[in-house]
Amino acid sequence: MTDSQNLRRLFGLQTGLLAILLLTACPTLCRPTAIRFEFSEPQMGVPFRIVLYAPDRATAEPAARAAFTRISQLNDILSDYDTDSELSRLSQSAGSGRTVKVGDDLWFVLMRSQALAERTGGAFDVTVGPAVSLWRKARREKKLPNPAKLAEALKAVGYQKLRLDLRQHTAQLVAPYMRLDLGAIAKGYAVDEALKVLRAHGIHRALVSGGGDMAAGDPPPGKKGWRIEVGSLDATNAPVPRFVLLANAGLATSGDLFQHVEIDGRRYSHIIDPRTGIGLSDHSLVTVIAPDAITADSLATAVSVLGPERGRRLIEGTKGAAVRIVRLPGRTIETSESSRFKRFCEGP
Ligand code: ADP
Ligand code: MG
Repeated sequence: MTDSQNLRRLFGLQTGLLAILLLTACPTLCRPTAIRFEFSEPQMGVPFRIVLYAPDRATAEPAARAAFTRISQLNDILSDYDTDSELSRLSQSAGSGRTVKVGDDLWFVLMRSQALAERTGGAFDVTVGPAVSLWRKARREKKLPNPAKLAEALKAVGYQKLRLDLRQHTAQLVAPYMRLDLGAIAKGYAVDEALKVLRAHGIHRALVSGGGDMAAGDPPPGKKGWRIEVGSLDATNAPVPRFVLLANAGLATSGDLFQHVEIDGRRYSHIIDPRTGIGLSDHSLVTVIAPDAITADSLATAVSVLGPERGRRLIEGTKGAAVRIVRLPGRTIETSESSRFKRFCEGP
């Protein structure tokens, strides 16, 4: 056999081997490594949704189940509807002079709440509970809260009346009848924590959302981010919705679109100015993007109370945060965006 024949034979053998190798490896190599899965479950009184990419259902399902279990566990701690939650038990100690030991989850949420209350001069305030109760009743009865009762309720509102001991991790509610309400921050924390659970299961391309709050992990395969529609107002001449691309960040929307009460032709939001005890009535939709969802959720409520100028300033001063505000204070719609918002928008 000549040298060239030898070479050809060797080459042929190698190609054959390579082909066999490829064929046997194909079930592993050719299998798509990312299939899209979607799960939803009612949690915290609203539908929660998880979209994730995983190699197969056997990986996706237990991860999603664990994430929902974590949300449900957080509801048992942070809910103000459940009279037996850790939060409700803390509220029940109001005015007793007692300090109460606080678990890690509640502690984290209370610390974040108090920090934002201080930054916003009390525009964001989780001690707003007594006023919220009166407005929930107003919504049911379609009647404004009684002013005397509202004034009484305000005596039990004020973030300075919630004292946190940084060393002991204890809390004290110094005024009687205080009631904590984490409605403006708990869902943001819950979606962040659910995303963490998915990551611990090895799933990084995921989006968790619940009631207008969402936490995004890595984007879907081949994409720059999760494509999210930023809503507008349900009014004539409302601007067209914008789309943002979200990755490893949180997004939250606050407004009176879904939860409000109309009394004597005026629409009151479920978001309350803690300093007056009155539901906001300027009809707005605030969308905040931030490094995580707990930040986005709490900031969106804070901006709603502060209004566009002070709200935008708060966002500009928060690392990695952006806001879009659509308002209908009178008859004309006003839209404003913070400087960083465009960076998240889809476009050329
Ligand atoms: P949503 O409930 O639609 O997600 P928010 O995140 O803005 O909207 O939360 C609104 C809830 O937060 C209210 O239903 C109430 O429980 C509570 N809340 C109302 N006003 C305030 C406020 N100024 N600061 C903190 N929490 C508030
Ligand atoms: Mg909020």
